[in-house]
Amino acid sequence: MQFNDALQRLCQLRARLDDIRIKSQLSPACLCETLFDTSLELQVIERLLEEKCSADKSQLLFLERILNSFTDPLFVKDRRHRYVLINSAESDFAARKHEEMIGKTSHDFFPKEQADIFWEKDEEVFATGRENVNEEFVTDGQGIVRTMFTKKTLYVDETGNEFLVGIARDVTKSKKIEEQLKSAHDEMEKSVHERTAELENANQALTDTRDYLDKIINSIGDPIHVKDRQHRVVLVNDAACKLFCRSREEILGRTAYELFPSPEMAEISWRKDEEVFTTGVENVNEETNTYTPGVTCTVLVKKTLYMDKSGNKFLVGVTRDITDRKRAEEALRESEKKYSLLINNANESIIVAQDGLLKFVNPITLSLLGMYSEKELIDRPFPHFIYPDDRSMVVENYRRRIANEAVPPRYAFRVVTSEGIVKWVEINATLIEWQGRPATLNFLTDITERKRTEEALLGSEQRLMDIIDFLPDATFVIDREGKVIAWNRAIEAMTGILAKDMVGKGDYEYALPFYGSRRPILIDLVIKADREIESKYDHIEKKGRSLMGEAYMPNMRGGIVYLVGSASVLYDSAGNVFGAIESIRDITERKIVEDNLIRAKEAAEAATRSKSEFLANMSHEIRTPLNAVVGLTGLLLNGDLTAQERDYVETVRTSGNTLLSVINEILDFSKIEGGKMELESQPVHLRECICVAVDLVKADAEKKGLAIKYCLDETIPAYFKGDDTRLRQVLVNLLSNAVKFTHAGTIEISVTAKPIQTTNSRQYELHFSVSDTGIGIPEEKLNRLFQSFSQVDSTTTRKYGGTGLGLAISRRLVELMGGEIWVVSQPELGSTFHFTILAEEAENIALPADSCDTRAKTPARWGNARPLRILLAEDNAINQMVAIQMLKRLGYSADVAGNGLEVLQAIERQPYDVVLMDVQMPEMDGLVAAQEIRKLWPKGPRIIAITAYALKGDRERCLAAGMDDYISKPIVIDELRRVLEMGD
Ligand code: ADP
Repeated sequence: MQFNDALQRLCQLRARLDDIRIKSQLSPACLCETLFDTSLELQVIERLLEEKCSADKSQLLFLERILNSFTDPLFVKDRRHRYVLINSAESDFAARKHEEMIGKTSHDFFPKEQADIFWEKDEEVFATGRENVNEEFVTDGQGIVRTMFTKKTLYVDETGNEFLVGIARDVTKSKKIEEQLKSAHDEMEKSVHERTAELENANQALTDTRDYLDKIINSIGDPIHVKDRQHRVVLVNDAACKLFCRSREEILGRTAYELFPSPEMAEISWRKDEEVFTTGVENVNEETNTYTPGVTCTVLVKKTLYMDKSGNKFLVGVTRDITDRKRAEEALRESEKKYSLLINNANESIIVAQDGLLKFVNPITLSLLGMYSEKELIDRPFPHFIYPDDRSMVVENYRRRIANEAVPPRYAFRVVTSEGIVKWVEINATLIEWQGRPATLNFLTDITERKRTEEALLGSEQRLMDIIDFLPDATFVIDREGKVIAWNRAIEAMTGILAKDMVGKGDYEYALPFYGSRRPILIDLVIKADREIESKYDHIEKKGRSLMGEAYMPNMRGGIVYLVGSASVLYDSAGNVFGAIESIRDITERKIVEDNLIRAKEAAEAATRSKSEFLANMSHEIRTPLNAVVGLTGLLLNGDLTAQERDYVETVRTSGNTLLSVINEILDFSKIEGGKMELESQPVHLRECICVAVDLVKADAEKKGLAIKYCLDETIPAYFKGDDTRLRQVLVNLLSNAVKFTHAGTIEISVTAKPIQTTNSRQYELHFSVSDTGIGIPEEKLNRLFQSFSQVDSTTTRKYGGTGLGLAISRRLVELMGGEIWVVSQPELGSTFHFTILAEEAENIALPADSCDTRAKTPARWGNARPLRILLAEDNAINQMVAIQMLKRLGYSADVAGNGLEVLQAIERQPYDVVLMDVQMPEMDGLVAAQEIRKLWPKGPRIIAITAYALKGDRERCLAAGMDDYISKPIVIDELRRVLEMGD
C-alpha cells in the first residue's frame, strides 16, 4: 500500500468509525466485529506511515536549508491565507519566531491596511491562478516601512490543495536612489531650460540695448563727444551737434581747431585732452566758451579716458551748460547774503528747534539768553533755557506744533539767562521743514519791560478797583463796548445784585435792577448824546465833563426811590474814550425834605402874596378917602378963607399928602415883595436924572439952610440904558433922608463910572454916593438899616417921622439894577450912603430942554399962568412929585390920582379942566379911564396922555380912546406948557 493509498484508507476508516459511532447504539456484536477489522487495518497503516515519515523528514530538512539560504523573504500560504511555510528571511523581516507565524495570517503581523492589500492581491492569485508581481509597502518588525517587490504564484498539490507561494525583495534602498536620480535629472533639465531662456533674453536685450544706446545718447541733453588719439571726433550726440550748430557729418573727423571759432580756445581744449590721454586721469573743468560766434556760456566739461579691448585710447567728453545754474547760484548767494544780513541784524531772536534741540540761533538770541556762544547753544535741549514753571507748557506747545495740532501761534513765557536772570518773551512760532524734517521756526521778542509795566498797571488798576469798591455811593464802570468792568459794594447793596453776577455782562444788563428792562441810562448818555434817554430823567445837568441826572424809580428793590446819578466819560492815556463811570446816590430822604421845603416855601410865598394883596387893597382903600381930603382941601384953598382957616386947611392938605406918600411907599414895597416890580430900559440922561432928584428935595433943604452940591465925573457918558424913575427914586430917598437927618452943613452927591472890561466895553458900573453932615448912625444899628420897617430907634420916628421902608425899597431897587448899597457913618459927624448899579452906555440923544442949567434961570417967567383945575393921574410917587414940581413952576397946582379908578372917583367929586393921564397904571389904565370919562362926562375935561414909550401908534391909540393930546416921558417942561396952554 502506498502512502497516498494509506491516507485515503485512513480517511475511509475515520468515516467508518463515525458510522460505527452512529450504529453502536444499534448492535454490539456488529460493533465488535467492525472494531477488530479496523484495528488490524490501522496497524498496517501505522507502519506504513512511520516509514513514510522518516523518508519525508530528511527531505524536509534539506528543503528547509535551501529555503533559509535565500536572503529574500519567502512564504507559502494555504487557501485560508494562513502561513504554512516561511523562511528565516521572512521571520527576520517580521522579527517573529518561525513557530509564532505558522498558521497565522498577515493580519496578525502587519498593519490592517497593509494586510488588507496583501489579502486582496493573494485572493487575486487564488482566484485567477495567474502569478502577480506587486510593489508593496510593508512595515517590518522594526516598524520601518519598506518598499517590497512581491511575486506571488499559485501551487496546487497532488490532492488539489491550493497554496500561494510568495517571494519578496526589499527594494527600499534602490527605490530611494532611483528617486534621487530622477529628481536630479529633472532639476538638471529645468536649469538647462532656464539657462537657455536667459541666454535668449540676454541676446535680445543686447540687441535692444545697442539700439537704445544710440537713442539714449542722443536724448541726453548734455553734449557728448568721443575723440580718438588723434583728437578727431569719432562720435557725437545730437546735443553736441546743437552746441556747435553743425550737423554730425560736419563734426565727425574734425579736431578742436576746426571746430572752435577761436584758436586760443581750441588750444586750451587740445591741451586738456592731451593731459587725459597721457595721464589717464579724468579731468573736470569749468570753462567759459564760445562755441558759436557771439554766444558765450559757462560749461562744465568732464573728460575721461576710455580704452577698448585692442588697447585703442579714446577720450569721452561730456559737456554741461551751467550758465543758468551759475546765474541761479549767484542769485542764491545774493539772497542768502541778504537773508543772513537780515537774520544777523534782526531785533527779534530767531530760533529753529528740532527734536527738542536748538538747531539755529541768530546773534541777538545770544544776548537774549545771556553770555552763551552760538556753539554752546546749538544742539542743546531748548527746555534748558525755559523758566521751570513755564517749561511743561512750552514743551507741550512745541510737541503739538510738531504734530501739526492746533496751538496758539503767539504766547508769552519766561526764559532764564546764563546769569540766572528771568526774562519774559513773546514767542511767535510756525511749523517748518528743516533739512527735510519737521521743526519749529520761532521769533522771540523780549517783553520783560512791557510785562513789568503791565504788571504795574495791573497793580494800579487793582488799587483803583479797590478805591471804587470802597466808595460809599453805588458805583459801576463800563468799558467802551458797554461791558461792566466794576460793580462796587454799595451798588451790590442797592440793587441786591453781586459783582460776580454783573461784571463782564453787556447789553445794558446794568439797567435791569433800576428799570426792569435793558435800556441805555445816564452812563450811556455821557458817551453818546441821546434825546430819548435825556427825556427819561426828571432833571439833567452838565457839570464839566460829568452829567448829573435825577430819576424817579417807582419799582426799585425796596419800593419807590429817587436816585441822582453822576456819570462821566473815562479816557485812556491817548485821550480815547475808554469807558464810563456812574455813581448813584439814593436821595429819597433828601427829596422828601426838599418836597416839604418847597411846599413850605410855596405856602410862605402864598402868604406873602396875600399879604401884598392885602397891603395893596388897604392902600387903595386908604387912598380913596385921602384923595378926597387932598382934592377938597385944594378946592377950599382956592376959595376965600381967613388966614387961620387957610392955615388949618393947608395943614390938612400937607398931612394928606404925607399920608399919600406913606401909602405909596407901602405899595412899592409890596410890589417888590410880590416880585411884581419890573424895570424899564430906556435912555437915561444921568445928569438930568440927578438934577430932578435934587430939585425935589431942594425946597426942604433951603428951608433948613442946607446946601446941596453934586459932582459928576467929566468922563462919564451922558446916557445910560436904565429905569429913570427908579434910579431917581433911590436918589430921592437918600437925599430926603440926608435933608431930614441933617441940621446944618452940606449934602453932596458924587458919581463915578468904571467900565467893565470883560463882557462889553460899553458896560459900566456906576457908583453913587450921598453924604451929609447930619446926626450919623451908631455902628451897632448899621446892619439893620436896609431891612424893612427898621429905623435906628423909636425916638427917631417920633422926631423925624418916616416908615422905615425907604432904604429897604432902595436896596431892592439897587439889587434889581445889578448893584449893591451900603453906608459909612459916624454919629454926630454924618453919613455917606453908597450904591452901585450896572448900566450900558446908550446912544446920545438930544438933551431935553429943561436941563438943570436952563431951569435954574427960568422959574420966574412961568409964575403967571391962568388957574386951571388939573388932575394928575400917575401911579408912581416920584413921577407924581416930578410932575407936580413942574406944574408948580408953571404956576399950576394939581390933584393926584394913582390909577384910572381914582381918576373917575375924583372927577365925580369935582369938575376938572384937564386930566394929565399916565397910560400904564394899575387897576384901570389910562386908555380905559379916558373911554369911561368920555362915556360918563361927554362934556368933561381935556385928557392929555403921558406915556413911557413914544412908540409908533401910541398917539393914535390914545386919541382913539378919546384923549385930546399926547406928551411922552420923561416930561419936558416946554411940552407940558404947550399942551396946557392949547386948552385956553
Ligand atoms: P424912614 O422913612 O424912617 O426915613 P428909611 O428907611 O429911609 O426910613 O430910614 C431908616 C432909618 O435910617 C431912619 O429912620 C433913620 O433912623 C436912619 N437914617 C436914614 N438915613 C439917615 C441919615 N442920612 N442920617 C442919619 N440917619 C439916617
